Amino acid sequence: MIKITFPDNSVREYTEGTSGLDIAKSLSNSLAKEVVAVGVNGEIWDSMRPINSNASIKLYKFNDPEGKHAFWHSSAHLMAEALEAIYPGIKFGIGPAIDNGFYYDVDPGDGVTITDADLPKIEKKMKELASLKNTYTRKEISKDEVIKVFQDKRDSYKLELIEELEDGTITLYEQGNFIDLCRGPHLPNTGQIKAIKLLSVAGAYWRGDEKRKQLTRIYGVSFPKQKLLEEHLELLEQAKARDHRKIGKELELFMFSQQVGQGLPLWLPKGAALRERLQNFLKNVQKKYGYELVMTPHIGNKDLYVTSGHYEKYGKDSFQPINTPQENEEFLLKPMNCPHHCEIYKNKPRSYKDLPIRYAEFGTVYRYEQSGELHGLTRVRGFTQDDAHIFCRPDQLKDEFKKVIDIILYIFKTLDFEDFTTQISLRDKDNKEKYIGSDENWDKAEQAIIEASDEKGLKTIIEYGEAAFYGPKLDFMVKDALGRSWQLGTIQVDYSLPERFELEYIGSDDQKHRPVMIHRAPFGSMERFVAVLIEHTAGKFPLWLTPDQVIILPISEKYHEYAEKVLNFLNNSDIRTLIDTRSEKIGRKIRDAELQRIPYLLIVGEREAENNTLSVRKQGDGDKGAMSIEDFVEVIRQEVKEQTSEL
Ligand SMILES: [Zn+2]
Ligand SMILES: [Zn+2]
Repeated sequence: MIKITFPDNSVREYTEGTSGLDIAKSLSNSLAKEVVAVGVNGEIWDSMRPINSNASIKLYKFNDPEGKHAFWHSSAHLMAEALEAIYPGIKFGIGPAIDNGFYYDVDPGDGVTITDADLPKIEKKMKELASLKNTYTRKEISKDEVIKVFQDKRDSYKLELIEELEDGTITLYEQGNFIDLCRGPHLPNTGQIKAIKLLSVAGAYWRGDEKRKQLTRIYGVSFPKQKLLEEHLELLEQAKARDHRKIGKELELFMFSQQVGQGLPLWLPKGAALRERLQNFLKNVQKKYGYELVMTPHIGNKDLYVTSGHYEKYGKDSFQPINTPQENEEFLLKPMNCPHHCEIYKNKPRSYKDLPIRYAEFGTVYRYEQSGELHGLTRVRGFTQDDAHIFCRPDQLKDEFKKVIDIILYIFKTLDFEDFTTQISLRDKDNKEKYIGSDENWDKAEQAIIEASDEKGLKTIIEYGEAAFYGPKLDFMVKDALGRSWQLGTIQVDYSLPERFELEYIGSDDQKHRPVMIHRAPFGSMERFVAVLIEHTAGKFPLWLTPDQVIILPISEKYHEYAEKVLNFLNNSDIRTLIDTRSEKIGRKIRDAELQRIPYLLIVGEREAENNTLSVRKQGDGDKGAMSIEDFVEVIRQEVKEQTSEL
């Protein structure tokens, strides 16, 4: 008998060689049907694999990330089996599970192409094979044997992968007529895969190397129930409708130009104004929290970044130095603002009484990204961080953390990111020598972060071993309206830069001490934040932030004069107002205003012009009835005030 420990620490005895699936069956039959993988002493196993000694186990269902991974990885194998049946002689690269499904990179052979048009037929074959309920069988195999298997299949890609594996660690998985080099884990059988959708075909270089052959990558997703697939496809549709690149174009917020360069966004007037409002909003908050604005140039001497260590990180693989023609100096496009702020700190001697010092800058930085990695505003080559660096004494860390948390929570609240999680990244307890800074300071800092987030009521996950070598951090992840997770806002402690720049302050003991540095950026970058905000709100920004707050729609040309009068009054009252004087029907004007996501529509005709009133319509809220112009101004002011004045 062996002892099996469950997550609630209860222990049961089973016969040696029992499997996760057997254990699930012993608990309940309905549970057994849902189990897709099992955690055994922290490793993820096939639920059918025999357990031969005492172990702690955790049963995973599809809903667990570990379960999805096994499910989608098994689906990739199923797709490969279908492909092999349709395209004999096809060769396989890699076929992993990803965040939202799976893919397989394949080489269909000379003269054979697979396109989107082929997906339904592959999908059909997969369903056919799934219904056979073939088991996924794991085989431990010697390197010589495995080489023979793939030599017989003439699969040069797999043979290349096998080269790098150590004998004695290699496993194969077989289901139906398909065999693959694979670590697993996999489902018990293909029958659990009930709903399948192949999504798209793309090109992908073998091993990501553009000098090597381009393979065909086929993306798909699968579920244990048809209903789940339908929900997922619906979500994909919604995500497409909310794509910030599409909405950014419709609302004329930003653009890209090949002439200017890939990954370098150009902010159009409406987008620039929106971004300015966000920046002013944050500037106001920061001012209340004692931040001082600084400004630094877009380039810096290479030596600055050698000192900071950023040259080592970004130098070779990023934009190359700019040389001066006469003095032979080398400058780098700024990859980070921190080194500049460290120099500002060193501008004069600092005393313990001066600390904390908080320097804030909307600093634009440049980092090279491969063109294939660029994506709208979320992955760019130049972006503006809402950056700040706090220089403080070790005993001030906790208070400073609490203040930064306050700022981030205020932003989330104002912009309706109600669903968020936080994670604290600490040292790996067993490898403390990997980290810079004294053990004592680390202990203090880690304690300070834990206490600060506790006192602020954050429900935080603590991850050991996830800290950067230079300090622990706290990350905020928000869920958007579609339930997708985005990382926004990081508070990062840093012991390294103060050391590298030899930053000092004179303590109350008249001795020199090192300050601690905190990097923090609540938005992350303006570009990324605006992208997330667009996708979260579907372009329907809160009233205080939205580009155009009001549009006046005269029913006919006769009322243009009155409409112009209203326009002037509203614009003079600092309400961003447009007018639609096209000779279109009112229904058409209303629809177009809705597409432009303008929150308030003012319809003016004979009655309104006569009585000096407005017919007010609010998007998503319907008719608000007739109102005097002054009352309407008050409505807008009140709404803006409610949205922004909670600090
Ligand atoms: Zn595999
Ligand atoms: Zn920084």
